[in-house]
Amino acid sequence: MIPFNKPFLTGKETQYIQEAVASGKISGDGVFTKKCHNFFETKYGFKKCLLTTSCTDALEMAAILINIQPGDEVIAPSYTFVSTVNAFVLRGAKIVFADSRADHPGIDEDGIEALITPKTKAIVPVHYAGVACDMHKIMSLANKYNLFVIEDAAQAIDSFYKFPDGTVKPLGSIGHLAAFSFHETKNIIAGEGGMLVINDERFIQRAEIIREKGTNRSAFFRGEVDKYGWVDVGSSFLPSEIIAAFLWAQLENLEKIQEKRQSIWSYYGKRLSKCFAASFQLPDVPDYATNNAHMFYLVFNNLEDRSLAIEKCKKEGIHPVFHYLSLHKSEYYKNKHDGRQLNNSDHYSNCLLRLPFYYELEESNILSICKNFE
Ligand SMILES: *Cc1c(COP(=O)(O)O)cnc(C)c1O
Repeated sequence: MIPFNKPFLTGKETQYIQEAVASGKISGDGVFTKKCHNFFETKYGFKKCLLTTSCTDALEMAAILINIQPGDEVIAPSYTFVSTVNAFVLRGAKIVFADSRADHPGIDEDGIEALITPKTKAIVPVHYAGVACDMHKIMSLANKYNLFVIEDAAQAIDSFYKFPDGTVKPLGSIGHLAAFSFHETKNIIAGEGGMLVINDERFIQRAEIIREKGTNRSAFFRGEVDKYGWVDVGSSFLPSEIIAAFLWAQLENLEKIQEKRQSIWSYYGKRLSKCFAASFQLPDVPDYATNNAHMFYLVFNNLEDRSLAIEKCKKEGIHPVFHYLSLHKSEYYKNKHDGRQLNNSDHYSNCLLRLPFYYELEESNILSICKNFE
């Protein structure tokens, strides 16, 4: 049996959880949370990091921070996870769905400008498979029309974007805000967990308040105010030290995890590029993007070929899985969508297949998986 995903444990997770428990401080924002914040701020130069209980929570914080009001429009790809847009719908936004690129499931950057109206408030690009969207194009539009950019970087840890002038920046450091996920299906995990990255300083103070149920408790703990109270809207978005302790064990091994995942990705690429007359295409990484080995996917020529491939694998106990169903066609949104066809998004819904991908996947496993596509 080769499952699709298998969470990888570095070995120190339970030790650090025990330390957190023994310290007598197991609610949020303790020693382990600070270690995680520092790690990201130092390694990737993110201006301010705040752990959350999920990427979904981080996106919901972003929607509150940019003051989404009923009727505001938010541009996002249709080929994504529900949380990318649900966070904004919860505040009353209307989602204007964009199509995917022909060569990649990410948002078609060249189609965004035509979707901008006076009501547009934000663009939410999703770095699908950890491969960057063309952020230069997106940030230029945001500047021109005075919009916020919130990167859905759920899959994009340790991945980078190269601007046309040669500057290289980590994903999550480019938009005004960004959201990461540490769900057990991502490269770095905490069971459930996430992080909001704040690159625009104007949002830092309010983000701390929103994350602490609308109180200024963070400033109180730093001794900046002599009592804390209710100062804004908010919710309980911060994770306990138990989650942060688990995450810290993972972060200490980030390079090792990434190295192993990169070698798995390369091996898949090497084997599958030998499949002549294949009924699928291999993933494309544009020149301006890096590959963080989050996922290895194939894009079949049609739904039938993909279904055949899934059947064939299942007989061998191998479990590849398809991915998103276009959100503009979802039960919840189809009647709210403006009727535009989003053909590339539908194509990926029907034809994209993700292959098993986890730290402990061996070359022999990859060989038996790839045999089904040769
Ligand atoms: C995983 C994922 C999310 C949700 O992350 P959670 O931490 O489970 O809330 C959001 N967007 C994308 C693109 C994802 O892949």
